[in-house]
Amino acid sequence: LRRALEQEQFVLHYQPKVNLDTREITGVEALIRWQDPETGLVPPNQFIPLLEQTGLILPVGAWAISKAAADGRRLSEMGLNAPRIAVNVSAIQLRQRKFVASVEQAIGRDQHGIDLEITESLLMDDIQANIEKLKSLRALAVELAIDDFGTGHSSLAYLAKLPVQTLKIDRSFIKSMGNDPDAMTIVSTMISLAHAMRLKVVAEGVETEEQAKMLRLLRCDEMQGYLFSKPVPLALLEALLK
Ligand code: C2E
Ligand code: CA
Ligand code: CA
Repeated sequence: LRRALEQEQFVLHYQPKVNLDTREITGVEALIRWQDPETGLVPPNQFIPLLEQTGLILPVGAWAISKAAADGRRLSEMGLNAPRIAVNVSAIQLRQRKFVASVEQAIGRDQHGIDLEITESLLMDDIQANIEKLKSLRALAVELAIDDFGTGHSSLAYLAKLPVQTLKIDRSFIKSMGNDPDAMTIVSTMISLAHAMRLKVVAEGVETEEQAKMLRLLRCDEMQGYLFSKPVPLALLEALLK
């Protein structure tokens, strides 16, 4: 993995998020892969834990943010309507004292719209320290989303105080929504909760028109999933944006 970083074998694929009513692209999420010359494209679940154990997640995480920012600049330069790009952040990154400075440095001078996604369980871990960091990130015009919402343990008292703009409902709820009335109730409740706190809601892992239709009825704002597009390399994203 160290060699992979040195030899620039990591790549970012991009998965669009779309408005549930208009199906217009509202932003994209950057998802890392390792282009291993021996075995081909390796998905993140197979190497992120190892990056975290070795601390390599710090340089690789910083690389992901600067690469996303560079790709965003490229899209603007091409005259495309460049979407905001959300990058996933790991616990180890967030825990660093200098996390905010490292994000600022990775984004670079010209503020292309870079956002961050942080998992729910992670945010609630050291809430007081995290609120301060999140506020500083907001000051850099970085928007923040709570990822995998519903799988962790959120304190509702804190949720209202967190400087976040978006909740992403975890794929597991979307998956069971169609055949499990309880899952449907939970999704509906999460959407109402988010809206009551003036947060935007994104449903993850939407694969069928039926799910999209239900989510639209439940007034979910945006969706992401194979129904609209899988994560794609930059060149394909360019085509999607034209
Ligand atoms: P995540 O942030 O929850 O990302 C969503 C995952 O669901 C992605 O898997 C995506 O490809 C997949 N997905 C999207 N739509 C659908 C769908 O309709 N059906 C199904 N079955 N899956 C769908 P991926 O790319 O394998 O990423 C897995 C996880 O790895 C991510 O989960 C994220 O936690 C982590 N990850 C990815 N890139 C980075 C990164 O740059 N840094 C860090 N720290 N973590 C990353
Ligand atoms: Ca994510
Ligand atoms: Ca997620």
